[in-house]
Amino acid sequence: MIVFDLSCRPHAHRFEGWFGSSADFADQQARGLLLCPTCGSAEIVKSITAPNLGRKSNQHTPSAAQSPTPPAPVPQANAPLPPAALAALKTIAMRQAEALKSSTWVGDRFAETARAIHYGEQTATAIHGQATTAEAEALCEEGVEITPILFPITPPGTAN
Ligand SMILES: [Zn+2]
Repeated sequence: MIVFDLSCRPHAHRFEGWFGSSADFADQQARGLLLCPTCGSAEIVKSITAPNLGRKSNQHTPSAAQSPTPPAPVPQANAPLPPAALAALKTIAMRQAEALKSSTWVGDRFAETARAIHYGEQTATAIHGQATTAEAEALCEEGVEITPILFPITPPGTAN
């Protein structure tokens, strides 16, 4: 288990999350499973730890504002969720599962397909698939509406 200092992007509420591995955190973050216990926001980021804080130094400190998309690998945790949040997630997941019955699985071509639909290069249709955290963030920044799937998906073709 690994503990991470997390914070929500909208309000910078700080909280701790326990994860089995860094990959677990990245996965849960990508799927929007991490929620701020204070405000319920799903925009959770790792708090920047500043080990050099307070150290006297003349070193130039790069401005954080200059790097819009830090590619830093994200760690992990099983952040405890309030019961109300869990119930809400369950409801959303059930409705999402229902909606996905009429959606097309596009696997790892999700990002490019979602983008093509967004820009009108492909007929608009419901799709679901896999995207990396970086791909999901890029899509969000481009204004492509995507939603994390809140339940485990077995990609077609891998069953049985
Ligand atoms: Zn918050």
